[in-house]
Amino acid sequence: MANESAMTFNVLRYTLDDGPGIRSTVFLKGCPLTCLWCANPESQKYAPEVVHRDVSCIKCRTCVTVCPEKAVAVSEETGVTIDRAKCNDCGLCVDPCPTNTMQMMGREMTVDEVFATVEKDKLYYNNSGGGVTVSGGEPLGQPDFVLALFARCHEAGLNTCLDTSGFAPTENLLKVLPETDILYFDIKLMDDEKHKQYVGTGNRLIQHNLEVAAGSGAEIVIRVPVLPDINDSDAEMESIAVRAKSLGTPVSYVHLLPFHRFGKGKYTILDRAFAMEAATPPSAEHMEHLKTIFEKHCLVCEIKN
Ligand code: SF4
Ligand code: SF4
Repeated sequence: MANESAMTFNVLRYTLDDGPGIRSTVFLKGCPLTCLWCANPESQKYAPEVVHRDVSCIKCRTCVTVCPEKAVAVSEETGVTIDRAKCNDCGLCVDPCPTNTMQMMGREMTVDEVFATVEKDKLYYNNSGGGVTVSGGEPLGQPDFVLALFARCHEAGLNTCLDTSGFAPTENLLKVLPETDILYFDIKLMDDEKHKQYVGTGNRLIQHNLEVAAGSGAEIVIRVPVLPDINDSDAEMESIAVRAKSLGTPVSYVHLLPFHRFGKGKYTILDRAFAMEAATPPSAEHMEHLKTIFEKHCLVCEIKN
């Protein structure tokens, strides 16, 4: 298999929430969805983009001077701002910045390069029942890379987990399933129109792909983000529980993921507004209540904070 490459934005070692055991998680860049609550907005664009981490900026204005598009402004009041309509992500402001405030988010990495990083922790994976997870962004947007990386992991005896929104051509899913041990598959909303309103697309392709995955032999974990005033009602959770139950034994767990605002700072470094700035995370009591809805359907449900 060729040494495939993919646009990545992070490779994190020692992750504990992206599959069983201790894992490494490879984050691929690019996502066709526009979820209002997205905690990884830097994952959405399929190409590298410049970000600014203002905490270290010394206001030297070098970036302003070198930018050929006159896209950067620096002031005491607002710190660094980039006019994204003018910026073409050329990256010319990154190296001259003396404090590493300006950074490029996203780079092409080969399977060899990623595997060299993730294989370092084989001992941890083996001792904890862990392995390697590919997340995003939407990893099924770059299926050849995922297939090649997972095949490489299997040759080395490493467990593989794919964390997907399910919104991708079915052929992409079919391509990676033979090398996928565990599928983390999101269900956000069952209603197609509401899905369009909050996610940017309908959910029919996602539901079709879920059906395909359920017949593949992969273990499936359904992941449900719990979103205030969007899907946190009993009726919404009941419809998701019914759907999860209908898939039968491939579904081993349902994970409920309470909405949080931890990604807010990432919108700032991208000069973007966070659409759910004012939303309040669900209470622990409400999460426990929603969990009982899944348990009534004999599904093993966990709240993941
Ligand atoms: S990436 Fe290029 S266009 Fe964008 S702010 Fe930096 S120098 Fe200017
Ligand atoms: S070059 Fe770097 S340190 Fe200087 S003003 Fe720009 S972002 Fe700040």
